Parts: sequence; C-alpha cells; structure tokens
Amino acid sequence: EPKTRGRRTFTKSHKLDNVLYDVRGPVVDEAARMEAAGMHVMKLNIGNPAPFGFRTPDEVVYDMAQQLTDTEGYSASKGLFSARKAIMQYAQLKNLPNVGVEDIYTGNGVSELINLSMSALLDNGDEVLLPMPDYPLWTACVTLAGGKPVHYVCDEQSEWYPDIDDMRSKITDRTKAIVIINPNNPTGALYPKEVLEQIVELAREHQLMIFSDEIYDRLVMDGLEHTSIASLAPDLFCVTYSGLSKSHMIAGYRIGWMILSGNKAIAKDYIEGLDMLTNMRICSNVPAQSIVQTALGGHQSVNDYIVPGGRIYEQREYIYNALNSIDGITAVKPKAAFYIFPKIDVRKFNVHNDEQFALDLLHDEKLLIVQGTGFNWKDPDHFRVVYLPRVEVLKGAVDKMTRFFSYYRQ
Ligand code: PLP
Repeated sequence: EPKTRGRRTFTKSHKLDNVLYDVRGPVVDEAARMEAAGMHVMKLNIGNPAPFGFRTPDEVVYDMAQQLTDTEGYSASKGLFSARKAIMQYAQLKNLPNVGVEDIYTGNGVSELINLSMSALLDNGDEVLLPMPDYPLWTACVTLAGGKPVHYVCDEQSEWYPDIDDMRSKITDRTKAIVIINPNNPTGALYPKEVLEQIVELAREHQLMIFSDEIYDRLVMDGLEHTSIASLAPDLFCVTYSGLSKSHMIAGYRIGWMILSGNKAIAKDYIEGLDMLTNMRICSNVPAQSIVQTALGGHQSVNDYIVPGGRIYEQREYIYNALNSIDGITAVKPKAAFYIFPKIDVRKFNVHNDEQFALDLLHDEKLLIVQGTGFNWKDPDHFRVVYLPRVEVLKGAVDKMTRFFSYYRQ
C-alpha cells in the first residue's frame, strides 16, 4: 500500500473489478521486462500476422496510399458508403438475410464493435451466454457493461463444438443473447451446420439474440466451408462480426464491421442504442475504411496460405503433430484460424496455476504463450499457441517446450 496520508490517490473504476484480459496481461508485461533487459523472447501469444512476414496484397496498400488525401475528414458514423456496400455484398454471398447498407457498421476493429454492442445491450445483471474457452474480450465487455457472463462449455472430446445441453441448462429469465465465436479462437474449431442449427433452435425457443464473431471466416482449411449462423436464422435478430485484421493481415489498420440481419423489427430499440453509441464515437478510422472495397473484391492472398503447401496450412500440420508427440500433451487438430489449444496432462506435470506455468515457461525457456484460464477456461490445464511463425521457428519453440516439459513434472 502506498503512503497516502493527507493525499488523494486515484483508483480505477469498480466497473473493472472483474474484468479479465490476460492476452495482454501480467505474463506479457514480464516478457516485455525481459526484452527490455536484452533477452530474446519467442512470442507465440498474439494473433498478429504482420510481424511473422504475412503481408496484405500490394493493391490494398496502394489503394490506401491513393486515398489518403481524400480520407482526411470524418465519415458518416456507420462508415463510408463504398465500404458498407462492399460488406453488404459480402453479406449476400454468405446468405445473411434482410441486410441493407444501413445494417452495416464499420469499427476500429471488431474489438470496438464488441464493446459497443455489449454496452448498448446490457443492464446490470443481464446475462449473456459465452463460449468457454472464449476470446476474452467478449467476457470482458459483458462484465464492463454490467452484464453477467455465463459460460457454456465447448467440448474438447467433440472437436471443441459447443455443448448444446450445457448451453440449454444455463439459460435463465435474465439471458438476453448467445455469443458464438466461429471459427473459434483459441481452439481453431469450425462449427458445422448441424451444430449451428441446434444453437438457432435454442435461441428461437428462448427468444434470444445471436452474436456471431466470424473474424476468421476466410481462414478455413481442409476444403471445409464456413456457414454464417445468421444465414440459418432469418426469423431471429443476429449480429455478425468480421473484418480485415486476419484475412488481409492488416490488424494494425484497425478495420472491422458488424452486420445486423434477420428480424430487425424486434430489435428496434436496441438498434437505436447501437446508433447512439456509434454516433458518439463519430466514425471509425477512415483511411482503413477506404480499402474495404479493394480488399474484399480483390486478390485474396489468404487463400494461398490455407491450402496444402501454404504457410498457415503447413504450420498447422507441423504444430499439431509436434505438440501431440510431446508426452503428456494432446491437442485437437484446428480446422481454421491460426491457434491451437493443447491440453496438459496435470497428472504428469507440475501445473496447478497456469499463470505460474506460463511464467515459468517464459523465465526458463524465453517462450511466451497464453495460459488457458486467460480464455476463461475453467481448469489450469490448457494453453494457447499461435502458430503464425514459420516452421523453422516453430521447431525452435517445440524444442523449448519439449525440454521444459521433460523436467516440469509432478
Ligand atoms: N474476435 C476474435 C475472435 C479475435 O480473435 C480477435 C483478435 O484476435 C478480434 C475479435 C479482434 O479483432 P480486431 O479488433 O482486430 O478486428
């Protein structure tokens, strides 16, 4: 406790009391301290493609350079017409029902829109069903907005698909919405249509809204197809999120969007709330909006990465096999995105607190991963690996893990 006698100190808002966002938390701070002290840390912790040599198509950068002088001013709050028109066409390709240009909102990444959507929706104590594990921003935004995050289990035994019975058992009078992350971060799961249909049926039965985070929808491997849950729910109110951070490797430009679809009449009042918060932030970064049309309509370089011979595909093959060959580590094969969420056999290893495990791995091997509880996973027995680095680099990381796990035993 600092000495404060006679002096005012400034404390953070109690609204932050239960907010967790460990993807950039204490373990990452420790890694930064180690780097500042001159150590080299291998970072497999953030889903940021650019530092690993992934580049956006040249035409996207060219387009932005051309448009910089025309994008000095604010845009309309929801975004430039050209961007929203291109996103509308994308929504049509994904069979999202009842979408007009007014139903599309651009944001400074999907992150801003997740925050805005939860703030506009929740009164204190309102419940939102969220996946476990999740991308922790969702839980953080529900909590910050005064809502109560209620986690349904995704089942590792069934390809990490949502456990529908668990989801059903957690619905109460206060439940307003179901959130799905598909494709999933941190598990890399891709939900088949049959699973999505069951979720829609549940939402229909209990009159819930559906929020679907689909930022990885263009990073799907093995010839599988991504289905937008909103396409199966024309009678429900759905909000679908995507953006260019991952598919176009421009996470730094900050551009994402959300699309309202289906039965908008039942959400008229909520939409007014969304519009108010959208107006209050004026607009999202306009140069980044200006390249949406070229990015969505142009060369999809991401397609070369996700097929056999492509970097993301081959890196997945490597990391999946290599992790599973470490005694006591098992991992479900990811179908999409660029994450894998291995399980630690806690009967074998000395893992009781997974933040401590992540710190020990960091100190001993200079390797940075994110512990499973950082994704609101219930037990300290998982961690997430970002497999964006090249195979040569991943090999170095696996060597470090193999060595670490050889002595970090019970
Ligand atoms: N949603 C998911 C599932 C993510 O993994 C991320 C980033 O890692 C985001 C949203 C945020 O993306 P952005 O704000 O860059 O659009």
